[in-house]
Amino acid sequence: MPFAPTRRKNKEINNPLNFGFAEAELIDVFMFLNEKDFKKNAIRLRAFFLDLIFPIECLRCGKDGVWLCAGCFSRIEFRDVQHCLACKKESALGRFCRTCRSDYSLRGVLVAGNYEDELLSKAVKSLKYKFVRQLSKDLGRFLAVFFRDILKIPGHQNITIQSLAGSGHSNFKNALIIPVPLHPRRERWRGFNQAELIARCFSDYFNLEISVGKLVRIKHRKPQTKLNKKDRKNNIKNCFAWRAGGLSGRNIILVDDVATTGSTLNECARVLKENGAGEVWGLVAANG
Ligand SMILES: [Zn+2]
Ligand SMILES: [Zn+2]
Repeated sequence: MPFAPTRRKNKEINNPLNFGFAEAELIDVFMFLNEKDFKKNAIRLRAFFLDLIFPIECLRCGKDGVWLCAGCFSRIEFRDVQHCLACKKESALGRFCRTCRSDYSLRGVLVAGNYEDELLSKAVKSLKYKFVRQLSKDLGRFLAVFFRDILKIPGHQNITIQSLAGSGHSNFKNALIIPVPLHPRRERWRGFNQAELIARCFSDYFNLEISVGKLVRIKHRKPQTKLNKKDRKNNIKNCFAWRAGGLSGRNIILVDDVATTGSTLNECARVLKENGAGEVWGLVAANG
């Protein structure tokens, strides 16, 4: 029996914006186990969620007409200290430390905020599981402000036309932005790739080139959420491919909404390095 939400269920949920992460995960699992059924029901299911989340109001204060009002956006805290994602030792720009570096193709992972921040995690979940596209703009801006501040790029008022050239950070000056791809099947189901929407906003802020559709996900595997570090690494192995010419030493910033152990970002980085990329960095809204 496919998962078929009904009107009756709709009435039972008092506040749909408190939809828990466990249920959101369940949707992911259901989708994996029951793909054919989900395909059939995708349109109905999406309509159901859109129904639930209407009308538009701020995720935190309930202000009408916006998903995240300016006041609440400014309350989301940036993570000003970065760590080696593997051993959690403090590390500038989230570089992998000397000890851990040899295990990773990634140079480092920059984490903008904390997943424990209720509003940030709500924004991430609402974009991903409730299809609130508009929140990708807020998350893209969150990444841009974080990036500007951590690299100490001048120009506090206007970052929209700020170019990284001349910022003194040669690693990122001419970086190519690549969102972590979804498997096409999952992207069709969700209707978009949340990482791509966030990456598009981020690249606009800094006038950086973005590449979409060249790094592709060729295998659909079970969700990583329930796996330990070692299993995540094996589960994601050989899931990505680069469908374009050599990258000629170009530095890359891989963008995703959330990273946990970094195994997905690292597998992307491995493929990109095999195709000639220079330094590959991860940039995520939160470390989940
Ligand atoms: Zn608000
Ligand atoms: Zn380390």
